[in-house]
Amino acid sequence: MSAQQQELLDQLGALLDADGMLSAAEAAQRSVGIWDDRPVEALALVRPSSTAQLSEVMRLCHAAKQSVVTHGGRTGLVEGCVSTAHDIVISLERMNEVESVDVAGRYMVVQAGVPLEAAHDAAEAADLMLPLDLGARGSCTIGGNISTNAGGNRVLRYGMTRDMVLGLEAVLADGTIISSMNRMLKNNAGYDLKQLFIGTEGTLGIVTRAVMRLRPAARSESTALVACDSFSQVQQLLVYLERELGGHLSAFECMWHGFYECVSKQLQAPLSANSAYYVLVESLGPEPDVDAERFLQVLAAATEAKLLDDAVIAKSGIERDELWALRDSVELCLQFGPGFIFDVSLPLSDMSNYVDQVLAGLDTHCAGHHSFVFGHVGDGNLHFVISPGSAELRNAVEQCVYHPLQQYGGSVSAEHGIGLEKKRWLHLSRSKSEILLMQQLKHALDPLALLNPGKVLGGSE
Ligand code: ZN
Repeated sequence: MSAQQQELLDQLGALLDADGMLSAAEAAQRSVGIWDDRPVEALALVRPSSTAQLSEVMRLCHAAKQSVVTHGGRTGLVEGCVSTAHDIVISLERMNEVESVDVAGRYMVVQAGVPLEAAHDAAEAADLMLPLDLGARGSCTIGGNISTNAGGNRVLRYGMTRDMVLGLEAVLADGTIISSMNRMLKNNAGYDLKQLFIGTEGTLGIVTRAVMRLRPAARSESTALVACDSFSQVQQLLVYLERELGGHLSAFECMWHGFYECVSKQLQAPLSANSAYYVLVESLGPEPDVDAERFLQVLAAATEAKLLDDAVIAKSGIERDELWALRDSVELCLQFGPGFIFDVSLPLSDMSNYVDQVLAGLDTHCAGHHSFVFGHVGDGNLHFVISPGSAELRNAVEQCVYHPLQQYGGSVSAEHGIGLEKKRWLHLSRSKSEILLMQQLKHALDPLALLNPGKVLGGSE
């Protein structure tokens, strides 16, 4: 450690209480991510207890030209939390309070370290709902959700995290606090600065607090699993359900045959695995009896109209959980060893051709692969799990998945972000002028390139 680094650690130690800083050895007790068991490398791990304290931390780091890497719940998949022994890691885990819930205003004020599930509970206690929902809800934090613009299972109806953030507060690289805690749905007074910090993976500032929009709690939840024989049926079914369920459709999760066959062998599955596609359909509404009846009628009419071949409706909470378990048990697809997981997006009308192209490419370049396809098809978002996930195959597999996207104007990341892992593919989804503007924004907000160095745009822009 250099004398300058030691001096900075002494300054930070004087600023923070005993709980506020972990040594390099203590930081190494943690893993880089829930799915990545490499130990955290860091000069130290700093845990500020307030925005003001983080501002002081950043002021000192800025003066010492010290790079920092921010951690939320470390549930991401693109190496966004990876640091080196020369970085300071900042975790907002001690800023974990739900500060208030405003029922009339339908919003809550939360600190960045609040786990998503705790925010759900606080909203529910006020008979409201924070609709953002994803598998990692118990571990991921609101700050991480915002900085990655998390998606999840209900984007179709409620949008991504970006659509739920009314306002936020962030600390810039030089310690400046930008408090933009707007609470209204409408505010066109100049630039919407919060957008600079949503989905930018901690490279432009560190989110410390947020105002999250809440919705009325749903009173009814109707869930069905349906089987379709062609992708054109799947597409027509989506349009039909959105219209006929009057805006209540909240999930439209499609599983390709291979995925369904794999999970249905190992779990309770009500439909046999003979169809080409399976769709998990969910509708959230205000009136249990009326909504259940309507859901049944709409599915019956869809069957009549030959938009689906078979359907089963959950009759209890347990049955609903069993249906969701089929979709959520992605890990069952890893029975052939470690795999690569992708999250791409593209227009629905091109999806079927694209999947055929990817699978044909894999057959040619990665003979013997095991590939599973599923996703939030209602959002244009597909996931692939492809085994074997060996390092030698990474480039070939990524080529097969990413290259065909370009012709459809698709995205190499629908929801997980770019991090370190996808930087070299960013150019497939963003033009030169878009990337240049990103670099200019980065330079304007973080000229010393101290925040999450090397992530998203790489190098020292
Ligand atoms: Zn997803």
